[in-house]
Amino acid sequence: MSQFSLPDLSIGGVDLLRSANTQNVLSFSGGKDSVAMYLLAMENDIDFLPVCADTGNEHEITMDYVRDFHRHTGGPEVRIIKADFSGDFAHRRMFIANDRRVKKQRVVKRNEDGSIKNGSVKPVRFTNKQKRRMLENLHPSGNPFLDLMMIKGRFASTKAAFCTERLKRDPIIEQVYFPFIDAGKIVVSWQGVRAEESPRRAKYPIYDSPGGGVWNYRPIHQLTSTDVFSIAKRHGIEPNPLYKMGMGRVGCMPCVNCKKDELSEIALRFPEHIERIAEWEWIVSLCGRNNNATFFHASKTGGSITGINGVAEWSRTGKGGRTFDLFKDTADSASCSSAYGLCD
Ligand code: SF4
Repeated sequence: MSQFSLPDLSIGGVDLLRSANTQNVLSFSGGKDSVAMYLLAMENDIDFLPVCADTGNEHEITMDYVRDFHRHTGGPEVRIIKADFSGDFAHRRMFIANDRRVKKQRVVKRNEDGSIKNGSVKPVRFTNKQKRRMLENLHPSGNPFLDLMMIKGRFASTKAAFCTERLKRDPIIEQVYFPFIDAGKIVVSWQGVRAEESPRRAKYPIYDSPGGGVWNYRPIHQLTSTDVFSIAKRHGIEPNPLYKMGMGRVGCMPCVNCKKDELSEIALRFPEHIERIAEWEWIVSLCGRNNNATFFHASKTGGSITGINGVAEWSRTGKGGRTFDLFKDTADSASCSSAYGLCD
């Protein structure tokens, strides 16, 4: 018997969670909150489909955990989906080839130590050399995360967190929700958002509807992180092993909202992922106008540290080093991810 009862989702006297006309779709990231939701749904005999959007930037431990989860619980297998941007490349290439716009761009001159000397705004346009470089490199890699950044010519950031929408929300809507809606079902979207996480998330209602036959449902909104871990413990389910390896989040490896101490752990334990991101920075740079894309936005480090290797090195600094946490204040920006409960 559950110690945490599910918040009621009855509309017009109909219990939507159990209606024959409802399809419950549970966003499953492999993080502690999605695990708690999954187990609560099972405890309450809810018929549900767990779905995970593989961004292509996940740790293999997380994907193994997601893939095997049903074997440990006896519940439904998690359906893993991916965004596909292969069709967007032709459009982007055509746009670049035909682009004759003159843009105003800020040009920055630096001192020898890397600090900014002065900046000015100048009109610039794509040179043929830039276009050739971009067109030569703009071909799908097959990895959704990398493909999206190549098309954008830059990485997502805390302020421009288009990654969640394009890599998780949209593919789930298109590949999972739409077929159910077309079949006449009401989709109840289970989202692992908790009030404790931030004042902004505390304001979310337990349920609401964006329309179009979809209801958002946040069944663990009132639970604490201790509560969600205790649900897994009660079922004898081990949390994602990455938590015990110092990760506060188990989403992308790393996430654009990664904190300093997490990045330090990643660099220490999984240097191969830092190497992969460094390679991606090179590839994405070749597809961007300015040829200098970095995973973490340069402004976060005052412009003096750029590139994943430099930021990873900085993340290891302790006393006597630069100890301020550049990501701390931005980890919960309005544009981040977790409004949908899709990124742990
Ligand atoms: S917000 Fe972070 S975890 Fe979510 S898709 Fe973007 S990089 Fe990945």
